[in-house]
Amino acid sequence: MSKSNKFYITTSIPYLNAGPHMGHTMEYLQADILARYNRLDGREVFFLTGSDEHGSKIAQVAEARGVWPQELVNENAAIFQDLLVRLGISNDAFIRTTDDKHVKFALEMWQKLVDAGDIYKANYEGLYCVGCEKFLTEKELVDGNCPIHHKPPIKVMEENYFFRLSKYGQTIREKISSDEIKVIPESRKNEILSFLEEDLTDISFSRSREAVKWCIEIPGEPDQLMYVWCDALTNYMSGVDREKFWPADIHLIGKDILRFHAVYWIGMLLSAKLTLPKVIMVHGFITSDGQKMSKSLGNVKDPFEYLEKYGRDALRYFLLREIPTLGDGDFSAERFEIVYGDELANTFGNLVSRVLAMNKKYFDGRVPERGGDDGFEVMVGQAWVNLEKRFAEYDLKKALEEILALGYAANKYVEDSKPWALAKEDQTKLATVIYNLLELIRQIGLMLLPFIPDTASKVLKSFDGDFVADGYLWAGQRDFGLLKSGTEITAAEILFPRLETAK
Ligand SMILES: [Zn+2]
Repeated sequence: MSKSNKFYITTSIPYLNAGPHMGHTMEYLQADILARYNRLDGREVFFLTGSDEHGSKIAQVAEARGVWPQELVNENAAIFQDLLVRLGISNDAFIRTTDDKHVKFALEMWQKLVDAGDIYKANYEGLYCVGCEKFLTEKELVDGNCPIHHKPPIKVMEENYFFRLSKYGQTIREKISSDEIKVIPESRKNEILSFLEEDLTDISFSRSREAVKWCIEIPGEPDQLMYVWCDALTNYMSGVDREKFWPADIHLIGKDILRFHAVYWIGMLLSAKLTLPKVIMVHGFITSDGQKMSKSLGNVKDPFEYLEKYGRDALRYFLLREIPTLGDGDFSAERFEIVYGDELANTFGNLVSRVLAMNKKYFDGRVPERGGDDGFEVMVGQAWVNLEKRFAEYDLKKALEEILALGYAANKYVEDSKPWALAKEDQTKLATVIYNLLELIRQIGLMLLPFIPDTASKVLKSFDGDFVADGYLWAGQRDFGLLKSGTEITAAEILFPRLETAK
């Protein structure tokens, strides 16, 4: 395998002091669609996700529950892993920061930074928010409180190890402004470049055992534990065959952790003289029915509930379709049902069942003779080009809309050509129309594979009983008109039941 044909994508690793929410769900899905797309396109893909399992907050939650922190993180990691399975996420590995191989690599990274002369001891006096698990600057405080937790931070004074981040500010700025490291979207790139206009300060890379309690130990320093940066961020290298897949082609992250990835992580890699990631792709946040999702407002959308009620493909489709890939979006229960009904049940589901039923009725379930293409060959070819363009722009929502447009065109073709009337007057034209509709459905099924793999596989199984999505490649499958006359097509089961019955 040449390195240019590999694709390595990571998600951020959720902190395991609490369970998963819709934001994690969307990030998993976005990464999954990119991973599946690249596999179908013939690249060797490694898709890594995992969990961040150290720190004082985990120690506190565990203590309050009277369990050992490892027990707490084992329980919570299992919940995240269960969500991944239920969502049909195709991750190749799940790295936990308490895994031995992770701890070993984090210590190797630490040593590389020491060898580079970039780790030094100094007194730290700072304002620390336990909730955030980080030091805050005076500027960040609102009325003396942490802006997120609305509590005053604690004054902390201790001797820690520091990382000489200040040394790398200029280089990081150059790498980002030249797109050697591409920060997507442009607005996030500008945000980070403007942050980098000011000189960087060095950052605390260790904390006292008393302060963080549950972290990787610094060798020969019983009182100093590794602070989050060198621990959590190194998962992107500890969890993968580095020879084969590093550097990451995409680090997919939320907008709240951009600075840690675009500045701290890059500074560490520069210091350790390691190759830099190619793309940092930043998604936004999800609100719920127009408001911030919160327990106190009672508007939390639980991914497990949606999976249970509507099935995984409906949730996959909705999140990708409704939330702008690189911006903030709203999750509305009402919109969910509208999108489910209009697009999944009617535009896609109904099209498939109607066309296969007509093929059964008029041609005994066999593909009729191919006639003229009625302009679809060009249209479908263009849809593939557009799809690729949208993926190249990292715009998964727009990619899905390209497929939806083809669905609309197919439905309109049914209405305009009226196969039920042709059946009485023009068998040749009927054959042409049904052939084109079958081929359109097959093409839509191919295109939907990364997005809603279960449904797309059902559709493609109608055309080929042996179809399996695993290891399937698009190459050689996507020219319009490849469907052979005479092939038997089996009827598909109902893809998206109407909601009255789904409830
Ligand atoms: Zn806070």
